[in-house]
Amino acid sequence: MEEKYYEISSDNIEKFVNNLVAQNNEVIAPKDKDGDTFYDKINDFKDADLNILLSKLSFKEYLLPKTETLFEYSISGSNINILDPLENTVGNGETDVSANGGIGSGSESSRKKSVKRIIFGSRPCDAGAGPIMEKVFNWDYKDEFFNEKFKNLYIISIACVQPDNYCFCTEAQLSPESSYGSDILLKKGGSGYYAKVITEKGLELINSSSENAGLFKEIPKETFPADKDWKAAFDIKKTQGFLDKNFTSGYFQEKFLSCIGCGICTYTCPTCHCFDIQDEGTNEKGKRIRNWDSCQFGIFTLHTSGHNPRVTQGDRYRQRLMHKFKIYNEKFNKYLCVGCGRCSRNCPEDIDLKEITSELSLMESSAGD
Ligand code: SF4
Ligand code: SF4
Repeated sequence: MEEKYYEISSDNIEKFVNNLVAQNNEVIAPKDKDGDTFYDKINDFKDADLNILLSKLSFKEYLLPKTETLFEYSISGSNINILDPLENTVGNGETDVSANGGIGSGSESSRKKSVKRIIFGSRPCDAGAGPIMEKVFNWDYKDEFFNEKFKNLYIISIACVQPDNYCFCTEAQLSPESSYGSDILLKKGGSGYYAKVITEKGLELINSSSENAGLFKEIPKETFPADKDWKAAFDIKKTQGFLDKNFTSGYFQEKFLSCIGCGICTYTCPTCHCFDIQDEGTNEKGKRIRNWDSCQFGIFTLHTSGHNPRVTQGDRYRQRLMHKFKIYNEKFNKYLCVGCGRCSRNCPEDIDLKEITSELSLMESSAGD
């Protein structure tokens, strides 16, 4: 759709958010929890912590939960009952689940709709992670668990004014004022905020009641504040260029000697999406679940034979770099990183991805001189 521009006062943005809550939407915002900030459900605008730069975790868990049940089963004699959380019970009394389309292949109309969720106060980097992840969840297989949640997720972001030293969203092809992945982008200014509405979903929120629509005053595009001239400190394409040619470089083994393989970098990352599937249960009943996993764990690639193709943390972090800055871009024309800096901010060993990607980019530049 053609973008629309509005002005809204601070008092009215508060009313807008509280109206969205009153309309029985699940509104999620950065919220203080024991001194740290996490995305969580709010019941009032005042519950949101909008002063921090970034929450500890992104809102990835609302698209890819830490633990997600794919289906449950129970067995009684020769009867197998499968409960698909996206459908109703299928295969009731039947042993042939495929008679009902099988798990994960039910038609859209037969699916239970997941709850409409509104993320309020996301940062542009977190908003950008959704459409980047959507590519891999719709590549060779349409992941209906992800898609159902993504379709029902509405994102209202607030542009950043002052990134910190770990941030490199501009180098990662976004910016502190990027609207990529947002339905509405707010910028502070005027009597409160300026709003850019990017998608039909954003417009749907504004027009969700006549009271809400009345809180926003439409303005011409020219009145919406222009983005600052954010300058990239290094060229991420050169980072990819280094990775293309230097798989066996000693850089990786030396640089990641201090990595303890804790996986925090992957768990806090808004774009890391590896999971492991497990069956839990007894002979009578159980469930199949998927859990977040991490390429930084030694057992991630451990073969049953005992062989492990990635022996050292250098091998493992190199894979993380290759996946994010080479392989994903080759396949989907997007880097698997939004430059939020969480992996570096939270690393107990102070391993800094901005420093690393910058170093690789500079090494590639020097090699080309
Ligand atoms: S957070 Fe740091 S120490 Fe932990 S696995 Fe990632 S790079 Fe290694
Ligand atoms: S790799 Fe690090 S900087 Fe990039 S999106 Fe993930 S947490 Fe953010």
